[in-house]
Parts: sequence; C-alpha cells; structure tokens
Amino acid sequence: LILNSVPTSPEMVVAGTSNRHIVSLIVADGFIAFFCILGLVHIMQKAGLPIGFDERAGEVICTEVFDPTLGSFFSSGDVLISIDGISLRKMEDVEFLLDGRRVGESVMFEVEGSSGRRTFSVSLRSFYGVEYLVTATIVGGLFLLVGFIVFAFRPDDSAAKIFHWGSAAAAVMMLATWGRYNIEPAGLGLTLRALFFLAHGFVAVLFFHFTLIFPRMKWPAVRKLVPVFYALGAVLTIWPTVTFVQAATSMSMDIFHDFLTAFFTARWSLVVFGFASLASMVHSYVVAREEAERRKLRWILWGLLVGFPPYVVLWVIPQIVLKHGLVPEEIVMVMSGLIPMAFGVSILKYRVMDIDLIINRSLVYGLVMIAALSVYAGIVGLATVFVMTWTAAESFVVSAFAAVVVALLFDPVRSRIQRFVDKRFFRVRYDFREAQRRLVDEIKGSLDIRHLAGLVVQRVDELFSPERVGFFRTANGHRRLHLVAHRHFDMLEVHSVRFDPKNLEVDFRLPVALRDRVEPAAAIDVGDESVFRRWGMVLVLGMMSEDRDILGILVLGNKRSGTRYSVEDLDLLRTVTTQAGLAIERITLQQKLILEHEETKRLEELNRLKSYFVSGVSHDLKTPLTSIKVFAEMLRSSKKTSPRRLREYLQIIEGESDRLTRLINNVLDFSRIERGAMEYRFADVRLNELVRSIMRTMTYQITMQGFKVRTHLAKKELPIHADADAVAEALINILSNAIKYSAEKKPVTVSTFRRDGFAGVRIDDKGIGIPQEELEKIFDAFYRARGEKAQQAGGLGLGLALVKHIVESHGGRIDVESTPGKGSSFTLLFPMRRGYDGSGSEGQSQT
Ligand code: ADP
Repeated sequence: LILNSVPTSPEMVVAGTSNRHIVSLIVADGFIAFFCILGLVHIMQKAGLPIGFDERAGEVICTEVFDPTLGSFFSSGDVLISIDGISLRKMEDVEFLLDGRRVGESVMFEVEGSSGRRTFSVSLRSFYGVEYLVTATIVGGLFLLVGFIVFAFRPDDSAAKIFHWGSAAAAVMMLATWGRYNIEPAGLGLTLRALFFLAHGFVAVLFFHFTLIFPRMKWPAVRKLVPVFYALGAVLTIWPTVTFVQAATSMSMDIFHDFLTAFFTARWSLVVFGFASLASMVHSYVVAREEAERRKLRWILWGLLVGFPPYVVLWVIPQIVLKHGLVPEEIVMVMSGLIPMAFGVSILKYRVMDIDLIINRSLVYGLVMIAALSVYAGIVGLATVFVMTWTAAESFVVSAFAAVVVALLFDPVRSRIQRFVDKRFFRVRYDFREAQRRLVDEIKGSLDIRHLAGLVVQRVDELFSPERVGFFRTANGHRRLHLVAHRHFDMLEVHSVRFDPKNLEVDFRLPVALRDRVEPAAAIDVGDESVFRRWGMVLVLGMMSEDRDILGILVLGNKRSGTRYSVEDLDLLRTVTTQAGLAIERITLQQKLILEHEETKRLEELNRLKSYFVSGVSHDLKTPLTSIKVFAEMLRSSKKTSPRRLREYLQIIEGESDRLTRLINNVLDFSRIERGAMEYRFADVRLNELVRSIMRTMTYQITMQGFKVRTHLAKKELPIHADADAVAEALINILSNAIKYSAEKKPVTVSTFRRDGFAGVRIDDKGIGIPQEELEKIFDAFYRARGEKAQQAGGLGLGLALVKHIVESHGGRIDVESTPGKGSSFTLLFPMRRGYDGSGSEGQSQT
C-alpha cells in the first residue's frame, strides 16, 4: 500500500495535455461537425410524398393518403406504376427517384387503381418532420460532443480514442443519410455520402474493438483479428460508396439495386458486430474481478441495453424485413442518445455518478408516483360515482375534498419513501454531536479488537453509507495490514497487505484522501490516485497509539450518494479513529495483563508441584533408608549370624542403596534437563551387551521381589551411537516401573531387535496397565496415573519424562501400548550406528 502525495485528477491531465492534441482533435471533430450540419441541411431538403406506401409482391402500393386534398388523385390500394416515366419495383426506388428533387418541385405519377390507370402531377413536400430534425440534431450532437470530451480528457487512453471515433461515426450516421437528394454541390455532397458509408461501415467494428480493450485488454486471439475486421469495414465502406456514386451519376435503377445489396450487406455486418460488442461487454462484466471495472461496465451495459436493442429490434431488423420501422425513428434515436452518455460516464466519471443509485432512486420514485396516482384515480373514481347523483355545487365540494385528501395522502407517502431512499443512499445529514458522543461511548466500552472493528465499520457504514469500508490492523511488527472487519472489501479478506510506514510519504496525522472526493476546505494529505482507485478507496485514516505508532487504518470508499466527504465528516471520522487507536492500545494492554495473570497462575502451579515434589522425594528416600538402617542394626546387634543371613542382609543394604542412587540420579538429571544443562557423552555402544550388564546389576531387585525376567536378545549385536549411562538409566527406569506396577509376581520380558534402521528394546509386563486416556500424559514430568493401584506404588512421576528426554536426545522414539489389567509394553528405539542401519533379523531366545 503505497500512498504518496502526487495529486492527479482528470482536470490535471487536461492541463498537462499538449495543445497539439486538442487542436488536432478540434480540427477533426470540426470537420465532422461541418459535414453533420451539411447532412442536416440535406435532410431538410429531402423531398417526400404526401402518401404512405408499401411494397407487396413486387409492386409498390399506396397505403395511406396524408393530405385529404389529394383524395382525388390517390386512394389507398392503388399501385404506383412509375414516376416521371421510370417504373417502380421496390420501395427504395421511390425514395431514390424523389431524392433527385427538392421540396416543392412537381413530379409526374402513373397510378393504377380501381378506376383504371391515371397519370397526374403532384408537388413534393418535405420528407422529415420537424420532430425528427430536432431529435437528430440533439442526439447526433450529443454523440459528437461526448466523443470529443472523452478523448479530450483521456488523450493517452486508446479506449477513449476508439470510443471517440465510434461516437463520431454514430453522429454522422444520424445526421446524414445515404439519400442522393441534392448532392449539390457535387464534391461536398458526395464527400458527405462517402463519410456516411464510412461511418456506417466502421461504427460497429469500432465498438467491438473498444470492448476488447475496455476496461482491460482481453482475448488476445480476437484482438489479432482486429485488422481483419477493419479491412471488412473498409470493404463495406467502399462497395456501397462506389455503387452509390455510380447510381447517382447515371440515375440507373439497376446500379441502384446493386447499391442496395451493398448497403444492406453493410447493415447486416453492423448488426452482427453490434451484438458481438454487447456480448463481449456482458462477458467482460461477468469476468470482471474489481468492483471498479464492474461499475464502469454497468454504465455501458445500461446504456447499451436502453439504446441499442431498440435500435436493432424496432428499426434495423424491421427495415430489412418489413421495409419500415416499427416505431417512429425519433423514438429509437432518443433512446440511442443514452449510449454515448453511458460510455462517456463509464470512461470518465463512473465514480461520481453511481448507476445503481440513479436507477434505484428513479425506480423508487417511479413506484411512488404510480402508487400515488392509483390512489388518486381511486378517489376520483369513487367521487364520480357520488357526483352522478349530486348537484353541481355538491360535486364541486367533493372534488375539492378529494383534492385535499390526495394532497394529504400523497405528500406523506412520497416524503416517507423519499426519506427512505435518501437515508439508504444519501445519508448526508446526521446529528453530528449525537453521533460522535454515542460512537465514542461505544468504542470506549469495547473489550476486544474484533468487536471494536465491527462496531466502527457498522457505525461508519450507517453514518456515511460508503461503498466500502475496512478496518485494518497492523501486524507482524507493523509490517502488514490485515482486515479485521469490513463492508464490501471482500477482495482483501484473505490476504494481508504489505505495509511499511517508513516508505510512506504521509504520517497519518491527517486523513489521506483523493483531492476531488473531499471538500476543498478539508485538511488532508493527498493519496496516490492509482493505488486508491485500484482498491476502490477514497479516504484513509490512521489509528495511532499515544506514541504515534500506527496501530491500524480505517479505509473508506466513495459515498454512495456520490457526494464528497465534508469537513464535518472528516472531523467525526478523525474522532472515531483517534478513539479507536486509544481503544486498541487499551485492549492490547488488557490482554497483556490477562497473559501476565495466566503466567502468575502457572508459577503458582509450579510452586505447588515443588512442594509435592519435596514431600515425594522425602517419602521415597525414607523407605530405602529405613530398611538400610534396620538391616545394618540387625547386623550389629546379633552376635552370631549365619553366613547365608549375612549375605542376604548385605544384599538388601546394597539393593536399597542402588534404589536410592537411582532416585537421586533421576532428580538430579531432571533438574539438569530443566536447566538445559543435561549433557550426553556419545560413544559406540552395543545394545545387547548393555542390556546384559543392566540385567546383572538389577538381579538383586528382581530376585528380591521374586520376579522372573526373561530376555530375548537379537542374534547380531546392535551397535548404536549413544551415552551408555543415559541409555542404561532409561532402561532401568522402565524395568523398575514394570516391576513396580505389576502388583503380583508376574513375568517381565526384555527383548532387543532391529527394525528399519533402528535398534529396539522392548519391555513387556503383565501388570496393572495404563488407561488409554493417560497414555499420553505419563511422559509428562510429575505426572502419575490416577488409578488406586498406581498411586499405591510410590514415585515422583519423573522417570518416564527422563526416559523420553534421553531417547529423543538420541534421535530415537519411545512407544507404549497398554491394556489396563493386562499389562504394558514399552518400546525404545535408537538409530543404528551408521554402516549398520541396513535391515536385520529378529531376536533369538537366550534366557
Ligand atoms: P513414577 O513411576 O515415579 O510415578 P514415571 O514417570 O516412571 O513416574 O511413570 C509415570 C506413571 O506412568 C506412573 O505413575 C504410572 O502410573 C505409569 N506407569 C509407568 N510405567 C508403568 C507400567 N509398566 N505399568 C503401569 N503403569 C506404569
């Protein structure tokens, strides 16, 4: 997100445009306008008949007589045979022949009707009515003007250029026709006709081309064909032009018919490209990813929908098929006048004027009108029923009464709906103080950031009705922004945005905005237009900590009403963001306190464990010490002890001392691990040998308690790289557990094996087992299974934690399987020494 302070706006672009561009544009469009005016003059001179006619089965038939004084000459149903001796076959023939004349001239008609064949002279009247001329002038002028403005404001935009030419072509088509009436002065007249065919041949191709590059380039394969389309346009210009010039100079009906073929071919191509353009626009709309693109296209689509299909359906197609339009040409023209305006807005000002808003608003107002009118009609209808039976005076009273009722009814309904519409889209007036007070209170009360963001977004949306609003929070050491709450910022919902306050040329002390979207008096920093437009934003406000760190930003789009943000709006928004900044700081602080509180709780827990540990240790030390003391006293006090007894007592003392040592070792090692001071001295170790030596040292404990331990050692030695003392300590811990948690004297099995490059030791017992839900926890320090039997056996809960640490420090793993009441099986796996880690064989019995 790069915001900088280079102000750019359409106005600036114009100011910076070279005068050459404007001059050549004025010359070109002036030239076209000149010919359009000439075309208009020619149209005015176009002569027409005072009758309507149609073509049926190769004959031209009179269908209607406009001028009643001509009733003696024509009657409907008569066949028009010839004009000035040239016989007629097609409707256009009449037009072509009359084109040579001026208004007021007389021509000789030959007509055949029920009263036989007659020949008479009729004076010609003007072909087009005043309405047509006025509409054509306005709409044609509009096309020309919009094309000019768009190109003038966007000289470097090729879409604007193409639109300009397309629009000019449309203007020419409207203001000139192909008629050969008064092609004098010959040069100018013919140039005008050529220009008309040029416009006719290219207009739709130009628009199709336009759709391929606006709002963004698409369909490269089709774009490659554009020269071909233009070539086609050229052919469909030259062909009708040449045949027309030939027909006009020779007055030959046959060549004229060739011309008609050429012209209607061109017209079909116009229809085809026209629909292709429409389809292409719809496609662009469907695939458009950005809201801005969609809005541009919505303008055009509405324009085209209103302007183009009526032209084709009501005029072009009926012209080809029925030989006359379905509605007066003026209506079609007025509708098509919307096209250039829609394009113009789309290219230049789509942001300022919101199509949805305009359509919505007029729709709602229209509905209100209809509703009000029906109420009115109902009341008047009711009134008339009574009026039938009343006198004039009474009926006057009733009408007046009805008028008052209507006025009363109409006004509240209208203003209520209007208020609704305005509230929904034109939320410009609000009680500033009230809104500010309420919002600040709410912000102060919010307890987490998500809630705060949601609140701010909702309130801002209600107050300003912007097209979109987003509440972003800085993260990652203020380097990224991510969206916390929003309206219509869906495009940013998933990603975060890179954001480096150091690169910014603004410090967010002031709101950053697009100059033309806020009131001129407002104090702002100006944002980078292209970035702002890309994300559809017009206003950005920072949310700062007290030390002016950027904690988040609030981003707003245009107001849906299309109005600018006022100084008052900005004031309110700044209050909101200042408060939100403070709230973010407060909430973060609170969360930190909560964390600290949790930390304290953790420490308390640790303390508790410590005292538990101390009492556990003293208990566990006491038992072996007691027996050592007892047996030592027995040795001292009894005078004569048999050698067998003597050995037995000494063995007990030795065994208990071992137990004490182990216990103390566990505690010491555990504290080393906790301090991170545990060190391992790795060397080459043979696992089988290690197990054997452990079994030897454990013999006392095992036999003392009457246990039988069986060993199954792997056939081949299992070389590992390990700290022999540590591994021994681990195995002794597991083995002592197996005995400790066996309750009765049950067999314990120790086996070694090799599997998948690991050397393994498994110790199986048939003891009390461990419940499934505790299996994971037994490796935690100080954890002791909750079962009664497990609790009876003393212990500190350190052994397995230690084992786990040892095994994992060796790059190995410990697994446990256990069924309560049936026994447990612990497997320790150590990686084989390099060079020995190929697959090997299972163990062999060696009791
Ligand atoms: P301690 O034995 O000192 O309690 P350990 O860390 O060695 O601590 O073991 C943790 C818990 O795991 C023991 O309290 C016990 O409940 C359970 N446990 C360990 N080994 C066995 C076993 N072989 N059979 C049943 N339970 C066992």
